[in-house]
Amino acid sequence: MAKNENTKGPVLDLIGGTKKKKAAPAPQQTAPVPAAAPQEAKPRKEALDLLSAPKKKKASPTPVATPAPAPAPTPTPAPKPAPKAEPAPAPAPAVGDDAKVMNIKAPISVADLATLMGMKPFKLIAELLPMGVFANPGTTLDSDQVAALCEKHGFTYERVRREKGAGVKAPVEEIKEPEAVAVEEEPEDALKVRTPIITVMGHVDHGKTSLLDYIRRTKVTAGEAGGITQHIGAYTVEHGGNTLTFIDTPGHAIFTEMRARGADVTDIVVLVVAANDGIMPQTKEAIMHAKAAGKTIIVAVNKCDLPAADPIRVRTQLMENDLMPTDFGGEIECVDVSAHTGSGIDDLLDLLCLQAEVLELKANPKANCRASIIEARMEQGKGSSATVIVQSGTLKVGMPFICGPYSGKVKTMLDDKGQRIKKATPGMPAEVSGFLETPNVGDELVEMENERAARKLSDERLEELRQQRLTAPRRSRMEDILAMMGDGTQKAVLKLYLKGDVQGSVEAIKKAIMDIESEKVECQFIGAAAGPISESDVLLASSSDAVILGFNVKVESNAVKAVKREGVQVKIFSIVYELIDQVKDAMLGLLEPETRETVLGHAEIKQVFKLNKGKAAGSYVSDGKMLRTAEARVLRDGQVVFDGKMSTLRRFQDEVEEVKAGLECGIRLADYNDYEEGDIIECYSLEKIKQTL
Ligand code: GDP
Repeated sequence: MAKNENTKGPVLDLIGGTKKKKAAPAPQQTAPVPAAAPQEAKPRKEALDLLSAPKKKKASPTPVATPAPAPAPTPTPAPKPAPKAEPAPAPAPAVGDDAKVMNIKAPISVADLATLMGMKPFKLIAELLPMGVFANPGTTLDSDQVAALCEKHGFTYERVRREKGAGVKAPVEEIKEPEAVAVEEEPEDALKVRTPIITVMGHVDHGKTSLLDYIRRTKVTAGEAGGITQHIGAYTVEHGGNTLTFIDTPGHAIFTEMRARGADVTDIVVLVVAANDGIMPQTKEAIMHAKAAGKTIIVAVNKCDLPAADPIRVRTQLMENDLMPTDFGGEIECVDVSAHTGSGIDDLLDLLCLQAEVLELKANPKANCRASIIEARMEQGKGSSATVIVQSGTLKVGMPFICGPYSGKVKTMLDDKGQRIKKATPGMPAEVSGFLETPNVGDELVEMENERAARKLSDERLEELRQQRLTAPRRSRMEDILAMMGDGTQKAVLKLYLKGDVQGSVEAIKKAIMDIESEKVECQFIGAAAGPISESDVLLASSSDAVILGFNVKVESNAVKAVKREGVQVKIFSIVYELIDQVKDAMLGLLEPETRETVLGHAEIKQVFKLNKGKAAGSYVSDGKMLRTAEARVLRDGQVVFDGKMSTLRRFQDEVEEVKAGLECGIRLADYNDYEEGDIIECYSLEKIKQTL
């Protein structure tokens, strides 16, 4: 039997601020999960909640359609040339030659799917309820939900991929998710060298801001708006005939936050280390963040003007941190600089240009435009504006776009000198106005063919968000890990981020975990350090899809918020062997999910009653049933706020074993008391599946 049954005191699992042992709910009915589940199969439960962190992959706080689960064109009416679209247009998906094969472009609305299946929408709506989906005819169903419904009705579901086309702009009738444009291969000859994007990181007071200021002050072409730059979040400089873009907010927090939100804009990291101080804790963090992101690092050994400067010592310390300087035969470029005197800065810029060349950074300026939001603001009287960095295509005034779930149209554009510009090419930053709502950092702005198409996509995305909030189930990242296992030829990777009270215990735990042998699963540490769990740790784990293990450490309050927001799994231990055991279990879980979960029903809390001891939730069973002996979780605004056992189930004064849909009942869950009206109680059963290492 799996170890995670064992929830002894020292183990605190921080997900949604609750002690949580179960996988986040998924929107579907369940089935045992094969070890290497195909894309469509939803692993329901893992061996250990270590891994069951809800998958937020690149979702912003106001969830946005960054790469992954963006809602897509739902009812896609007949393509453009079709004479006159029917009032209720047939959706793009079509039943294939074999009447039992459904070629469907998911996501698709319930109404459209019902039409394809020759059924009434309400039937599908009823069938979706036990899957935890409270749908209406307009609800967009994702691929998994479509697959489940098809299977139920004896259809073979074949997902039709959305077309990809270089620079293709979607006509209104065929609005394509911008996602589809993102993955396209650009023809080699359309690619042009683009401006590299550089982020400066390092320990506090080591001179990051001074370095950025010095470069901006001295390198902005004189005459351009008096050579004065505005702070818009990024600026560009010319050097030796090359253009370089610097992100103006130094530090790894923003870098990782953006990555966590899906905007991985940085190409090169400049790691600033003060020559008089050497490598400090935040330098180590920065190294970790840059490495986790797989970025090229160039080290600027700053403050070399100071008598106490010891650039050689810095190099030695770099080696101790697995960064081998080129002077010592390694591959990490180090430059001695002074942000005060300016010495070495030209060399640093030379190296950056050279590195950009090596990286062969290219983009197609003619492609559909995509840009990442790196700063956003709302000003009284001016509305929302944001600084974007163009990733591909060319951003132009008047261009309609979708950004997160909102549509917009570029009204004005300013460059970093405060001058009005009409277009911005790949790698260039620009301050853009014309947003309907203030976007989030990391959101992606994507060009649309026209405003109508943008608005339509926005409606779909907003609807999708609404649905997500209702049915909530955040996904487990188990899917990804299992997907990576593919045909079994590749090892699955369990990424861990370890924080411990002292360096000694960190080293010992890391070693013990690395010593666990498994042929199918590999543990990878994206970082291991002493100290409390900070917000930045959570963001790093989130952007790297890692689980955080804490040993005798506190979780800072900002980090707790980030844990909830990002859906990162944090486990705190105070006993070493328990930690190791849980990692072992997690590795087992990777091989084979150990429990099968079946959602039994939902009840909505109508009223909260105070009792002598604690509280009870007066609830109405909306579908399925409540079973006293089952597990239950509380969903609030789509998030799991409690997960545990049902302790009391009453009909009026009587204790009962079961309450069916359509009836009211009183529910108490373990020692939980924070019920709120409107919360949904999801009742589910778990079935253990035997597994071996
Ligand atoms: P940040 O926290 O990394 O952004 O560091 P700052 O740029 O704010 O610099 C911290 C302090 O170091 C300030 O007092 C700067 O004037 C000083 N400083 C920065 N660069 C240099 C340098 O190259 N030489 C000297 N002597 N002082 C510097």
